Amino acid sequence: MNTKELDKKYVLQTYGRVDVEFVSAKNATLKDINDKQYIDFTSGIGVVSVGHANERVNSAISKQLSNITHISNLYYIEPQARAAQKVVEASGYDMACFFGNSGAEANEGAIKIARKHGERDGKIKRYKIITLQHSFHGRTITTVKATGQEAMHNYFGPFPDGFVYANGIDEIEALLDDHTAGVMIELIQGEGGVEPQDKQKVQALAKLLKEKHIPLIVDEVQTGAYRTGEFTASQVYEIEPEIITLAKGVGGGIPVGIVMTSLKEVLCPGDHGSTFGGNYLSSTAVCEVVDILNEKKASGELEKTSQYFNQELEKFYVSNKAIFTQKVGIGMMCGLRVKDADTLSKVINTARENGVMLLKAGRNTLRFLPPLTITKEEIDEGFKSLVSTMASI
Ligand SMILES: *Cc1c(COP(=O)(O)O)cnc(C)c1O
Repeated sequence: MNTKELDKKYVLQTYGRVDVEFVSAKNATLKDINDKQYIDFTSGIGVVSVGHANERVNSAISKQLSNITHISNLYYIEPQARAAQKVVEASGYDMACFFGNSGAEANEGAIKIARKHGERDGKIKRYKIITLQHSFHGRTITTVKATGQEAMHNYFGPFPDGFVYANGIDEIEALLDDHTAGVMIELIQGEGGVEPQDKQKVQALAKLLKEKHIPLIVDEVQTGAYRTGEFTASQVYEIEPEIITLAKGVGGGIPVGIVMTSLKEVLCPGDHGSTFGGNYLSSTAVCEVVDILNEKKASGELEKTSQYFNQELEKFYVSNKAIFTQKVGIGMMCGLRVKDADTLSKVINTARENGVMLLKAGRNTLRFLPPLTITKEEIDEGFKSLVSTMASI
């Protein structure tokens, strides 16, 4: 049986898969089983932040593989401690980390911290978590309930109580009450359609929540790890959240989720845990990914790549205004609004046939999440294919 047949027979069919099978990859360039080449403007879904088959990450984890891969969190883990230091220092916040394996797991940790913090005085049970409509926070029973998309709550209930959805930042204040444990937002909604929040509104919200001692949780699973130009988008927005979650790009392709918080005393031994979280292998990857991106940030290379990518995207947008209505995003988390959903699918499919990988976000947004290490040549090649894509649409 070929891969497709094996998948159909033995893998649960939870994904609508595209009929392409990749066999090799380097930085932002992919090859499929027919030796066809693609430029990757998706990096997985914002995961392969330092490119496919990054030599430094590979060499660091190969070295680690030939020694310890996993012991357990019952013992001190040198690369985990170092990864935590690197992540905290890159953020500039006075925080400490808990390591899990995915974005959803990081958000679960964030919710647990907010809720335990909410029970701090033993009198009122503060359990309510306010999230935004069109948000995306994960697929576990709790994080899918935290996700403000009713269509995702069709089955699987009963869900944990206490999730309330605000229709935009403006509506959050009215929903705060004595039982509110936290507010969880994405600064740029990713799956929801590349929707950046207004900076001033976010700053006002952060200030209000501080006055009320309600933790602000920023879900940076997609925006983190320099995707928006700084290590966290919270730095771009110049706020100091109490809790930040990271996953996708911070492991460069090795599964990892991190919840970091300034509320360092809330969780005590026994309150939370993870078998695999922060093991030698994944934390070694985090150390190397953060080092690489720190260096690219310091040298100005990250900014240069982002500027060039955005310049080319702007050109592409301006010359295709019959189809695209707006360019959105921050740093290398970009999108083009497409005039309708049918055209969007057509653009993505035709682009892929022409050798460039793109993502959909929300109902009508073409999403670009290239590796942060994408070269000028790869960017040029990708937009060249996009230009021929538009000619054939
Ligand atoms: C992808 C994503 C998640 C879920 O991450 P998983 O690793 O799939 O669990 C959560 N929040 C945001 C903002 C995401 O983009």
